Amino acid sequence: MQKDQTPQVPPRIRTPQTLENTQQSSQPDTHLTLPTKKVSQPPLESRLDSLDDSSDDYEDPDLFYPGAHRMNTPDRDMSLQVPRQPKGRYSSLCSDDELLDDDESNLWQDEGISNLQGSVYLPNSGRLSSATKEDSSQLAAVIKMGWLDKNPPQGALYYQRRWVKLDVDYLRYFDNDKEVYSKGIISTAFISNVSSVGELKFEVVTNNRTFIFRAESEAERKDWVTVLQDCTRGRHPRSTMSPGSPLTPDYQGYLELRGLRSKLYTVVASDKVFLYKNIEDYRIGVGITSIEMNVGNVKDTDRRSFDLTTPYRIFSFIAESEQLREQWVDAMRDAIGEALSNREVAERIWVEPSNSLCADCGAPKPEWAAINLCVVVCKRCAGEHRGLGPSISKVRSLKMDKKVWTEELIQVFLLLGNERVNSFWAANVPPSEALTPSSCSEERRRFITNKYRQGKYRKYHPLYGNQRELNNALCINVQCSDVLETLSLIFCGADVNCSTGMASWPSPLSLANAHSQPLQAELISHNLNTELPRSEVGEAMNAVHYTALPCVSHNGFLFKTASMARAVTERKAREEFSRRWCTLNDGAFSYYESDKNSNPNGALKASEIVCLAVDAPEKHGYEHTFELYSESERLYLFGTDDPDSHKEWVKSIAKSFIPASAEPLLRLPFERIGRLKCKDGLNLQTSKVGWFALVGSTLHAYLADSQGEEVHLRKLNELSIQQDNEVLVLVERGRTLYIEGERKLDFAGWCGAIQAAAGSGGDTLSQQQLTETDIPLIVHSCIDYITQCGMMSEGIYRKSGVNSRVAALCERFRRDARSLRLREGEHQVDDVSNTLKRFFRELGEGLFTSEDAKTWLSTSASQDESVKISQYQLLLNRLPRVNKATLQALINHLYCVQRFSEINQMNLHNLAIVFGPTLFQNDGKDYTAGRTIEDLIQHYILIFEVDEQQLKKQLEEISVIIQLREKLNTKFPSTEPGGHFICTVYLEEKKDTAEQHVKIPGSMTAAELSCEVLDRRNIPVKDKEYWSCWEVSDKEEMERPLHYQERVLPILHSFGTDSHLLIKKHVAMDAMIVYLASKADASKHGIMKFREERSILGLGLSSGSFHDRYFILNSNSLRMYKEIRSNRPERDWPAKNLKVYLGIKKKLRPPTCWGLTVVYESKKQEKPEKQQWYLCCDTQPEMREWYATFLSIQYDGNVWPQDGLQQIRASRALPDTRHGNVSLIPLRGSENEMRNSVAAFSQDPLALFRDVR
Ligand SMILES: [Zn+2]
Repeated sequence: MQKDQTPQVPPRIRTPQTLENTQQSSQPDTHLTLPTKKVSQPPLESRLDSLDDSSDDYEDPDLFYPGAHRMNTPDRDMSLQVPRQPKGRYSSLCSDDELLDDDESNLWQDEGISNLQGSVYLPNSGRLSSATKEDSSQLAAVIKMGWLDKNPPQGALYYQRRWVKLDVDYLRYFDNDKEVYSKGIISTAFISNVSSVGELKFEVVTNNRTFIFRAESEAERKDWVTVLQDCTRGRHPRSTMSPGSPLTPDYQGYLELRGLRSKLYTVVASDKVFLYKNIEDYRIGVGITSIEMNVGNVKDTDRRSFDLTTPYRIFSFIAESEQLREQWVDAMRDAIGEALSNREVAERIWVEPSNSLCADCGAPKPEWAAINLCVVVCKRCAGEHRGLGPSISKVRSLKMDKKVWTEELIQVFLLLGNERVNSFWAANVPPSEALTPSSCSEERRRFITNKYRQGKYRKYHPLYGNQRELNNALCINVQCSDVLETLSLIFCGADVNCSTGMASWPSPLSLANAHSQPLQAELISHNLNTELPRSEVGEAMNAVHYTALPCVSHNGFLFKTASMARAVTERKAREEFSRRWCTLNDGAFSYYESDKNSNPNGALKASEIVCLAVDAPEKHGYEHTFELYSESERLYLFGTDDPDSHKEWVKSIAKSFIPASAEPLLRLPFERIGRLKCKDGLNLQTSKVGWFALVGSTLHAYLADSQGEEVHLRKLNELSIQQDNEVLVLVERGRTLYIEGERKLDFAGWCGAIQAAAGSGGDTLSQQQLTETDIPLIVHSCIDYITQCGMMSEGIYRKSGVNSRVAALCERFRRDARSLRLREGEHQVDDVSNTLKRFFRELGEGLFTSEDAKTWLSTSASQDESVKISQYQLLLNRLPRVNKATLQALINHLYCVQRFSEINQMNLHNLAIVFGPTLFQNDGKDYTAGRTIEDLIQHYILIFEVDEQQLKKQLEEISVIIQLREKLNTKFPSTEPGGHFICTVYLEEKKDTAEQHVKIPGSMTAAELSCEVLDRRNIPVKDKEYWSCWEVSDKEEMERPLHYQERVLPILHSFGTDSHLLIKKHVAMDAMIVYLASKADASKHGIMKFREERSILGLGLSSGSFHDRYFILNSNSLRMYKEIRSNRPERDWPAKNLKVYLGIKKKLRPPTCWGLTVVYESKKQEKPEKQQWYLCCDTQPEMREWYATFLSIQYDGNVWPQDGLQQIRASRALPDTRHGNVSLIPLRGSENEMRNSVAAFSQDPLALFRDVR
């Protein structure tokens, strides 16, 4: 786009009727003084009443004129229709160079009136004299105008006399010199050739059409041809992309002009409305007229119609619908606003070249600014800025908010400019996140939120994170002229309201004023209440004493490979390293060809280093290596054979980029240290910068608002990488930490290192993955499982499991105990018990430690009970923490097992025989080890100082479990030695004739059970029939369709006697699948009515009533908030561990019949807990959406078999229930049916399956 000086606005452009000749003669000289740049044309006076049938070839006056009301009819009260006095407002959008201020234009107008026909200027009559109008509107540079004959439309014989005007953008022709609205308008951008033809004639050629004009004299013709050629020469066709060109429309489409038979293609662009006969004409740049909106007024007249009123004419439009009418009215009103805006400020701000492109998306001619953030932005981005709220972004228009634009503020914007300001705000924008002028609103919102609310792409100030130093630096800096530094300080956390410590100038603002820095003062004054990007300013930081970063310097030879953009996965041989002289100085790490060179081969600013990783020795060709990761995603590998030099370098480099606030990290023997962005539980909106160091299995962190903390990676409840590998989620007791992948390279390194560190590190106790109470997860899981499923198992711990399965279990636990859930039906009691034993037997160092094991053994020989007990206590307290906690958990468990020895036959002695040699890892030839274990179990309460109430409760709970299981066993009598159940399943409804008895092997899934029952009844499965297996409570108030992959046996075990299994169609499944398919990810939020019932193992009392709560369900959790605006969830449940039933017990009086019952069982060893609560939705679809979302989350989107049930049915392996057991064929049902199936079965046991269709 061209840029230019203030144009001269020659007074000769006026075109009073009486001065025609003078004017024409003066044209050639004057137009040359005009800048050859885009200047749009303001309206000329015209009357659209002179209908001319014989007129132009593509103007259809029949269509055009009747719809426009004449404004100059004497008998109309025009004063009502003159919406605005055009006086003093001269905007025409293209005129970048139009710098007339009000005074000048008034002058100009006055002159016009006095010199010319001032008496004719009677605005109240509704009719302006042509002269006056010309004066007031001809500010855009008309290059030439005059009378010409225009060739007639095809076939017609006569030339038509036309008043023709040329400006740089358009050639227009009018019926006469008084018209404001042209009969035709040709965009000069589309004129491809202008040449003289024949006598006095010249042709104007566009791509599709040729216009022939005839001048009155040869001189005139020559002049027209010259100016037209000047005007079009060298211009690239269609390059007219400036705002205000119809080629950059704000709104466009067909509109009916009242009374016309066909519609006109109408384009609203900036401050003009263009009319075209049709869209084709629009595309070739040949139109009817343009309407300047500075004199326009728009009002609705009817459902679909509206009037655009100008002093010269009323255009009555009819839109295609009411909705479109609203949009047209809005667009035209915007155009009026545009026309009336003041462009002085914008013109000045754009003088700084980078301000002429939006700071966020790059769109040209941005007309808005965030005055506190110092960025100039386009209208669309400004909308998103406004969405951040004025406390973050103070949005002002360059054109309309004239008052705010003080000289100082304009100077600040000129001094800074989008480019420099973006060197701060957008220092680190990943190309994938950058906006373009065509980005959608969603992208804009995300980007602008990240950029300004979170400061995600900021360039961090070196003092970042240290409040005191930042404040200090601000106070110093406002005394000089570096405004950008002030901006950087403010938005990296310096407090503009901080105390300077000087009585006479207590604040940075007063200090800036005192030092005559008005621009600094201006910037500060707009940020006095700004809410800063949240991540940085921690209160706790204030307390940290700041010592200036030590000016680290170090040098020496290192060996270096070429820098990489990817992680180092392979071993780098010695040959791949080159010897380099390296220096660390003045906050930069540089490497040179040799120590003689003065120009470095490369350098890395300390502030650009985001991570330093120390490799394990001998990972590469050089014994000791370390990796440096830069902000710009490069990885540098350095090595040396000298361990001391390696250590020294690592220490020095870490020191150079780790801020003082995280200085304690430097004292740790870290494997990896650096900067990461993270969020934690309470504030998930804003991420903060944290400094992290990984040492063994502990992640040390200094988050912006904390004093340093530790995350014990082996004790995490959960560790996962989510959102397309961009977030590392660490769930520990009481909180969740989300570490964000701000950059890919170093983040991937951290993920790998953290995952490895969170796995089990070896075969000693403390190297295992642990529970919160320091018990290895493997021990915890096995004990928990045996408590739930094995207490009744005869000879538990004495019987051996299947060796291969035990080995596999041990291996699975070793790999990742966190991910393994022991499940009944899937895992066998004896396999699990033997896994536990094997773990202890193979444990490095042993449970009692190699040091003290002998003392433990010898203690058992002591005769005096009380001496013995205190000796055990002494030994117990000498055990490492993890050993002690583990021993207590195990002895507690064994104590419980022997309390139920009547059932499981494992009394004290039997257990001691098994566990003595296991725990002491000996051959058990003598009973010493056994006796020790016997002592520990027998005196469990005394030695471990157990709370007996607690123990009593625990035993009661086990009794409940046992009772429950006994009931189950009577209901589903097990006929198989393998522990399979024969269970009663109903088809479609619970009645005797619908009963089926099915043997349920441990591996049987709900889908297989459904198929089994359908097979037996010979029921075909049609497409979109979602046969499911339902768990239904007896009163049928609650039910739950089992997921098709869910195993049936554990469900049978878990449900009480008042439930049954039912096979029926899941009618809502189709709707749920459709719903889920319509969602990008499985999540949902909204209000539901909530009621709670808390109980320990179903013994509790229900309480309370239903209350509105706001819920957010996503892949991690279901969070409950008191209300939408609450920041903190009242409750937070892991979504995957919830069991959701459709329906709520009636006695709870649910407020609607669309309820869900949710069960949450936590399996903590200390107190197994079962919570049950209720959610009520207002509508059935609402309930289905919640249910579907739960389902999708719990099964990772796999809610129904891809190929339907038929496929499972067809490919189903023949269950062993079939073989030779005729009694498993339907016992009930119609006699015929039974007979048939028995006959079929005895003939060919597979017949029933073949029958499946
Ligand atoms: Zn923008």
